[in-house]
Amino acid sequence: MTQNLKLLLNKHILIYNLINYGVEYIIEKTNIINAKKMICNSVNICKKNKKNIRYKISYRVITNLNRCFEYCVICKLHNHKSISCFKYKNFKNKLTNNNYVLYNTLKLSQCDENGFCASGIIPYTKVNNKIYLLMLKEVRQNKPGINFIAGKRENIYINYNNVRFETSYETALNEFEEELSALVTNKSLNELIKEIKNTSPNSCFWSYQSKMSLYSIEISNKFLNKLKIKKSINKNAEPFDIIWINTSNYKKYIGSQSINSICFHEFTINIINQIKSLHPLETINYLFEKEIL
Ligand SMILES: [Zn+2]
Repeated sequence: MTQNLKLLLNKHILIYNLINYGVEYIIEKTNIINAKKMICNSVNICKKNKKNIRYKISYRVITNLNRCFEYCVICKLHNHKSISCFKYKNFKNKLTNNNYVLYNTLKLSQCDENGFCASGIIPYTKVNNKIYLLMLKEVRQNKPGINFIAGKRENIYINYNNVRFETSYETALNEFEEELSALVTNKSLNELIKEIKNTSPNSCFWSYQSKMSLYSIEISNKFLNKLKIKKSINKNAEPFDIIWINTSNYKKYIGSQSINSICFHEFTINIINQIKSLHPLETINYLFEKEIL
């Protein structure tokens, strides 16, 4: 089977792994149509050669993210994710059991960097001393609400044959790119992503309760009016829109004031409260201001 499959491959396509239950390809962006045909051919060959073979074909378009899903870097297996692995508990057991904020960093404390489960970015901008946070409107548990731009830790390809865990900063960047790509039109998105990637985070908040980090990154205030949403967004999809939250009146998004208004999800309110509780004035603004030494 391996031989037959290899014959079908050209230089654009590479077998990532041949495992008992299946075949996984990595396909370059430019060659999707050809690759699909080849996958169909190779499935037929698999079927002819061995009737009872179990196969699971998945294909992944390589973007500059190079994320690796449905693979465990601890067990070297494709049937579960690293962070769902029972062995990942060893990392989670060693997490710092309190919340904290670090400034001018691209990583958490080492034990949290090892065992974090999710990470995200809070892009913010300032106009007339007011701070605006870019957040997502998302459907969670059939309910639309407002969330930070964050998601679960995945793995990342070092090269075609080697995969490792993402760092908390990499998860944050990759989630940002994935979630915003689905929403925002290309032109302004490219500019935004470039700015996010080239700007050092002001602070990083660690939530022990959520096993999650949030990097605050300042962006130009031109984006306040510049980010256009794609026309074809399904309102039942998650996420379905962006929203700028003014930190001086964020409380109006807590609890449903009226049936039509959209509010923070419960999960997000918990995070906001955790951020507030670290500051004597119970504010969240300190994440977006320079560290006071
Ligand atoms: Zn595992």
